[in-house]
Amino acid sequence: MDIFRPDIYKRSIYDINYEDLKRRGIKCILFDLDNTLAPMEVEIPDKKLLEFFLYLEDLGFKPIILSNASKKRVAPFKERCNVDSSCNSSKPFKKKYLKILELYSYKDTEVACVGDQLITDILGANRLGFTSILVNPISAKEAFPTKINRWFEKRIYKSFQKKGIFKKGEYYE
Ligand SMILES: [Mg+2]
Repeated sequence: MDIFRPDIYKRSIYDINYEDLKRRGIKCILFDLDNTLAPMEVEIPDKKLLEFFLYLEDLGFKPIILSNASKKRVAPFKERCNVDSSCNSSKPFKKKYLKILELYSYKDTEVACVGDQLITDILGANRLGFTSILVNPISAKEAFPTKINRWFEKRIYKSFQKKGIFKKGEYYE
């Protein structure tokens, strides 16, 4: 079960302490798209998100959008935010993560992953030894595969709560 536990838990992408991530040696941040960067029904990034990516670049990070969604869904975000991206990523499977490590020559300790799902984003990151960061989903509206994941996720959250190692809304870093 520990493989599902995030290293850091924050309300949203805007509540993460990126300067602290920098001090921890993180150089590259992989962002989930749906319900992490934007709600599913939003097709283009808003001004706040565009400024957010500029801020990350100013800090010297390499942000990458790593999504299980289609190329069509990811493209407007990739283009307008001016970041590299990976679509159809099949998180939590290791293939795309390994490809990124190879392509950009990062060590596992230099990569953080931010996402709203334990079963894709957090499990994937933890399997690779990356710093895993959970945020709350922006919206309640979700795609069908996510609804299935959430059913399993509920059980994991319950088990966490029983063990006293995680509680929704109790943020930590
Ligand atoms: Mg998501």
